[in-house]
Amino acid sequence: MKNAVELKRMASDAVKRVAPELIELSDWMYAHPELGLQEFKAAERITALLERHGGVLERGIAGLPTAFRASMTPSATRPTVAIIAEYDALPEVGHGCGHNIIATSAIGAGIALHAIADSLPGSVVVLGCPAEESAVPNSGGKIYLIEGGYFDDVDAAIMIHPMNENRIGTGTSLVARGVEFEFFGKPAHAAAAPHDGINALDAVIQMFNGVSALRQQLRPNVRVHGVITHGGTAPNVIPPYTAARFRVRANTPEEAEQVLQKVVRCAEAGALAAGARLDWREYIKPYLNMIPNRAIGRAFGKNLTALGLDLQDSSQTDGSGSTDFGNVSHRLPAVEAYLRICGPEAGWHSTEVAEATITAEGHAAIMSGATGLAMTAIDLLTSPTLLDDARAELAESVAIAF
Ligand SMILES: [Zn+2]
Ligand SMILES: [Zn+2]
Repeated sequence: MKNAVELKRMASDAVKRVAPELIELSDWMYAHPELGLQEFKAAERITALLERHGGVLERGIAGLPTAFRASMTPSATRPTVAIIAEYDALPEVGHGCGHNIIATSAIGAGIALHAIADSLPGSVVVLGCPAEESAVPNSGGKIYLIEGGYFDDVDAAIMIHPMNENRIGTGTSLVARGVEFEFFGKPAHAAAAPHDGINALDAVIQMFNGVSALRQQLRPNVRVHGVITHGGTAPNVIPPYTAARFRVRANTPEEAEQVLQKVVRCAEAGALAAGARLDWREYIKPYLNMIPNRAIGRAFGKNLTALGLDLQDSSQTDGSGSTDFGNVSHRLPAVEAYLRICGPEAGWHSTEVAEATITAEGHAAIMSGATGLAMTAIDLLTSPTLLDDARAELAESVAIAF
């Protein structure tokens, strides 16, 4: 049996051999961004690359045409490490969250671990998780994979995310709910007979005003943000139908539920004032707060440092974003490492970030991401204590928080 140092060196060499293919695919994804649940071309290329390098593929899993499971080791021996791939883009800014780098790092790690599969006491899967961004209804691919049982035989899950600094994700993220509101009124000629109409636009505007007042009574970490997705069609018709989508975020599932009910009351108040009828539903399954695993995070951090990365101190404890990786982290030890692809001057979810993914710094992040993920998977499979420590930590975190 080869030791971990030797295996890490072999995995690193394997990543270097496949580097041109990883970079080519990442750059191709930058030029061909696809929204969540529509990542057909990306999923096709990602799975083809994994298959070409030894992966055994199940495509279209968990009822999601663009989700996949790639088994990178011949046996299904436990423990199993899952390396997470995301590949959805954003409207207007393309890969402004850099998920092309997440995907290609995961592929590189999977291929590298396949190359040393015979020496690994355990197994490795790459899980292709669509629609992490909540830009589309029914996003949150990881939640569907959890429900489909695709994490049941997984002992730890790791991923990287591009960022504007190198850091291990030891902070949490916010619980996020997604709600769609529809207001039904009655059309009328806006000049000849406005008194005959029921103005659904008034209802949605009153709802936004109500939410703005509500913010004064919310804790600092709570976020409520919405858009009007349908505001009427012509100014000379009293709008008979309007719709809005909101995200409601808080530190805990309980607080998110409380705030959600308050936001619903704002919608009810708007509907009542205008005389409109309200319908509402959740259009995304809830994203849970991240429980980052510090034990695996320490191992991941050591590996990235060994690759020459300068890691920022992760003193941050509260997150402001949300991810469906949070749902995974409630079930099994999970951690995410952030890799710098540009400086803090680029606001996130921007074209600047998308462009940074195809620079030398972006390409370097794919290499350190793939290598760091492979090295951390090797630690998880070969260290006699790491997985036990990670499991104990998760059990303790859940006991304290819930
Ligand atoms: Zn994002
Ligand atoms: Zn992202």
